[in-house]
Amino acid sequence: VPSKLPDVGTTIFTVISREAAELGALNLSQGFPDFTAGPELFDAVARHMHAGDNQYSPMAGQPALRAAVSAKMAAVYGAQYDPETEITITAGATQAVYTAITALAGPGDEVIIFEPAFDSYLPGIRLAGAIPVFVRLEAPHFMPDWNAVARAITPRTRLIITNTPHNPTGATWSLDDQRRLAALCDGRDILVISDEVYEHIMFDGREHASACRVPELAARTLLVSSFGKTFHVTGWKVGFVCAPPSLTAEFRRVHQFNVFAVNTPCQLGLADYMADASRYLDLGAFYQKKRDDFRARMAGSRFELLDCAGTYFQLARYDAISDEPDAAFVRRLMREAGVATIPVSAFHHDGFDAKLIRFCFAKSEALIAQACERLCAY
Ligand code: GLN
Repeated sequence: VPSKLPDVGTTIFTVISREAAELGALNLSQGFPDFTAGPELFDAVARHMHAGDNQYSPMAGQPALRAAVSAKMAAVYGAQYDPETEITITAGATQAVYTAITALAGPGDEVIIFEPAFDSYLPGIRLAGAIPVFVRLEAPHFMPDWNAVARAITPRTRLIITNTPHNPTGATWSLDDQRRLAALCDGRDILVISDEVYEHIMFDGREHASACRVPELAARTLLVSSFGKTFHVTGWKVGFVCAPPSLTAEFRRVHQFNVFAVNTPCQLGLADYMADASRYLDLGAFYQKKRDDFRARMAGSRFELLDCAGTYFQLARYDAISDEPDAAFVRRLMREAGVATIPVSAFHHDGFDAKLIRFCFAKSEALIAQACERLCAY
């Protein structure tokens, strides 16, 4: 059959996780924790299931969960989002981003993305018939060059997709970056999709520079986040979108025919679980320990670790070991060291190879210890 995405294979995260399983390699590739949320979350979901909460949710999401998100956004960022008209529960952040692109961009529209970029953005843009425009984030700090962004903007620019804390680099924007973005959009018909799924995973005392903290930016932004990342339940595929009423209305126009509504008992369980704010406020400290443990154990290896300011990903150079392209090196590392990682070239539309690999450290101490032992011996 004629393909709408003829050059697109299976997403790298599925491919590497499968190969890791086949080879019995330790999996530091796809970003998911190998530990779970507290039992209270599962008890809450089970309680709702047994209570009969198993039918369709309202299209926009369970009121209790939208209210919990609204309260969180106010408490953490001082941002006001009306649960009725400004918050929508989604089937994960990937669906949220895809639906947002579909709702807002069409043929002839230009959509700016920063590369390296999470691999779902580009296919979404192409399927909408829109034109991707790429702005490169340069190693080793991967912060945006705002002059380059200014040059990328044209009268056809419809959308800019941003992501902080950033997957795969662990770079985090400052409020000043968000203000620069707002200034560039000023007076133009540009909307922003702000992927903030790692919002609670910030290190070394940094505060997350959410787009919602800059009012001029918030007015044109669909902010996307994820319960899966925050509560260690990536497999539940539940996320949310916060946006002003007019943008939310456009988003829901598509969302209702995309997934209609998200599974009910998980939404209700998450709403109960969120009542204890420490469950998301302590996440940064929790992962900072893992980052520091991973970095300390890797100190004796030949990998050169880059800075990591947020997320549960760590980039590394391997040029002391090999001059192969990153995709080839990842395969060899998996076979010979028994550790699976992600090549950063997979986050570039043209396969640009910065010779960097990504480790995920959202893993138990035992798995990190075992993997680092292998990596240090390699
Ligand atoms: N966000 C995860 C990662 O970067 C993967 C999510 C997915 O596989 N779609 O590894």
